[in-house]
Amino acid sequence: MPRNQNTAAQRARRAQTESGGKYTALLREAEAGGPPKTFPFRSLMAECATRPEIRVDWGYDPEFDWWPGPAMFDSVLLGGPVPCGTVLALAGALSSLELRGDLHVETYHRLESALVSCEGRRFQLILNQDLLYELCRTPGCSHRPVNDWAIPYCVDHLCERRPDELITMASEWGHAQYEEYNDSPGDAQAGKEGDLLVKAATGIGACTEVTAALLKGCFTDPQDIEDTYGVTEESIAIRHGLAYERLRLAGMADEERARIRLSVDASCTACSGPLSVRNPRSVPPQYCSTTCAPPPPEEAQHPNPWVTEPTF
Ligand SMILES: [Zn+2]
Ligand SMILES: [Zn+2]
Repeated sequence: MPRNQNTAAQRARRAQTESGGKYTALLREAEAGGPPKTFPFRSLMAECATRPEIRVDWGYDPEFDWWPGPAMFDSVLLGGPVPCGTVLALAGALSSLELRGDLHVETYHRLESALVSCEGRRFQLILNQDLLYELCRTPGCSHRPVNDWAIPYCVDHLCERRPDELITMASEWGHAQYEEYNDSPGDAQAGKEGDLLVKAATGIGACTEVTAALLKGCFTDPQDIEDTYGVTEESIAIRHGLAYERLRLAGMADEERARIRLSVDASCTACSGPLSVRNPRSVPPQYCSTTCAPPPPEEAQHPNPWVTEPTF
C-alpha cells in the first residue's frame, strides 16, 4: 500500500474515533487532504469538552498589553484553534433552530473565522472571541440575515425568494412581534424587518398576501379579535393599531412600486410596453401584465454535503 494512502487511512481512523463519522466519507476527505469537512455537531462538542485548553500567541507583548483571549482548544474537526464559547454559542443556535443534521465546514481561517452550515443554515464562527453570527442562507453570501430566526436571508437575497417563502417569513416575524408587544397588543408594529419583507414582496407582486400574513401575525386574525379580547378598550386599540399599520404598509408598498417602475424607465422589462400605475398589485411593478411577468423563482437546491455515496 502506498505510504500516503496509509497515512490517509490512519487520519480517517483517527477522525472516526474522534468524531464518530462514517469511515468511508472520512477516508475520502482524508485522501483529499485536510481535516474532515462533515461531522455530527456532538463530535465538535465532545472535542470542546475533552481536549485541553491551549494558549494562543496573539502577537501582543505580554509586558505591555497582556490579553489572555478566550478559552481555546485545538479542534481536529475544524482544523485549528477554536474558542470554547463560540462552540457553545453554536450549540445554542442549533438548539433554538432545532437543527439536528451534521455540520459541514465551508472555510476555516486560523484565529479569524470559520464558516459552517447545517441543514442549509450557515454560521460564521468568530475564532478570536466567543462569538457566532448566522449568515444569509444563500450559498456563498457573507452578509448577515435580516433576522437570525425568522428571516434568514440578507436584504438583497430576500428579493429573490418565492411568494410562499415570504409569506412564511412574514407569519413568523409577525408572530415574534405579537409576542414582543404582548403587554400592549394594539401598539404592535411590523418594524423595519416587516418593511423589508413587504418591499421584497412588492417586487414580485405578492405584497397583498405578505402584508396580510404579517398583520395577522402581529395583531391576530381580524375576525378573531373580539373573540380573543372581548369587546373591550384593548380590542378597539388592536383594531386601530391594525388599521394604522395596514395603511402604513400599503403606502410603503405603493412607494416601492413607484420606485421600481421608475428604475426600469417606466416600460415593461419584458415587452418594453408602457407601465400603468393602475396595474393590480398582483402584477410585479416592472411588468405590464401577468403575461409578461416570469414565474416566481424556484427554490434554491442546497447541496446536501452529508449524503455520501457508498464506495463499497
Ligand atoms: Zn445574501
Ligand atoms: Zn409587458
